[in-house]
Amino acid sequence: MTLSIRIEDLKVYYCMKRGNCQAIEDISFNIEEGEAVGLVGESGCGKSTVAFSILRMLPYPGQIIGGHIYLDGIDLTDLTEEEMRDIRWKRVSMVFQGAMNALNPIIRVKDQITEAIMQHDKKIKHKEALEVARKLFNLVGMDPERVNHYPFEFSGGMKQRAMIVMALACNPVFVIADEPTTALDVTVQAQIMDLLKKLVDELGITLMLITHDLSVVAEICSKVIIMYAGKIVESGSVIDLFSNPMHPYSQGLIASIPSIEKSSDQTLASIPGQPPNLLDPPTGCRFHPRCKYTQEMCKNTDPPAEELKSGHFVSCHLAAGRIKSEHYRIGLEDKN
Ligand code: SF4
Repeated sequence: MTLSIRIEDLKVYYCMKRGNCQAIEDISFNIEEGEAVGLVGESGCGKSTVAFSILRMLPYPGQIIGGHIYLDGIDLTDLTEEEMRDIRWKRVSMVFQGAMNALNPIIRVKDQITEAIMQHDKKIKHKEALEVARKLFNLVGMDPERVNHYPFEFSGGMKQRAMIVMALACNPVFVIADEPTTALDVTVQAQIMDLLKKLVDELGITLMLITHDLSVVAEICSKVIIMYAGKIVESGSVIDLFSNPMHPYSQGLIASIPSIEKSSDQTLASIPGQPPNLLDPPTGCRFHPRCKYTQEMCKNTDPPAEELKSGHFVSCHLAAGRIKSEHYRIGLEDKN
């Protein structure tokens, strides 16, 4: 199977007068062709920065400081802006966060979609582009006649579907969906999740789903990558990581998911403390100020990612067994 996307030691900073915000610090991961991968973490952990780095659309003053982003062997970080224009939307596209505001409310949807298609394929005629738009509306479960409407005539769920159509308009192989269900009601969220699943299962689209919601990942993805403060702390198959989270941050995230099996007055666990200021991140393990198992080594040495089980990578000194902690051992036993 060919690799669709390979990120190697990516480092992204927002370089500001008051210092460098170290948004992404040496992260590496692969997404294989046809795979659906969830990128999970709290707001500000760098999930969207990863997406904008792949598309080379980092907002100012963001800069790729180091590392590589390979798409089928081509390093996107080496491409000129002109070369990148040939890849953006045609090979890699994105469903942006905030569908409510992403479409121009006073331009008919068909004009916004056909313009996007024709801009990226100069040979295609307006009539053909309109036919593509109508077919895509049908694919996402909307009446093709709706292309004639204005975005202000659409509900939130319809706007999100229209944004998915925009992302698919140039027939990309890899789609990034950034918080695609945020601000939608629960029923519409479920419909959008079904639609994304259909894109992966039936069209073979490779998907990177950015979310803070682990339950959304469990619905759609086969693999999950957990980020904390600009670093990957754990990654693995959804089944493996959800049933046996090894990083204390992942354990906290999973413990905070409400369960229908528990009583209705269950108290949800939370992770104490706040994410760090990335202008001056903690030394060693970036999670150490919030971790209940912190040891001296955690404060000084950054834990490397280690494959503790086939395909299951964890960046934690304790999980890797470099230091002993009775609390951690008990914590794991409690969980099991
Ligand atoms: Fe906690 Fe140390 Fe593991 Fe970091 S390395 S998550 S501080 S136990």
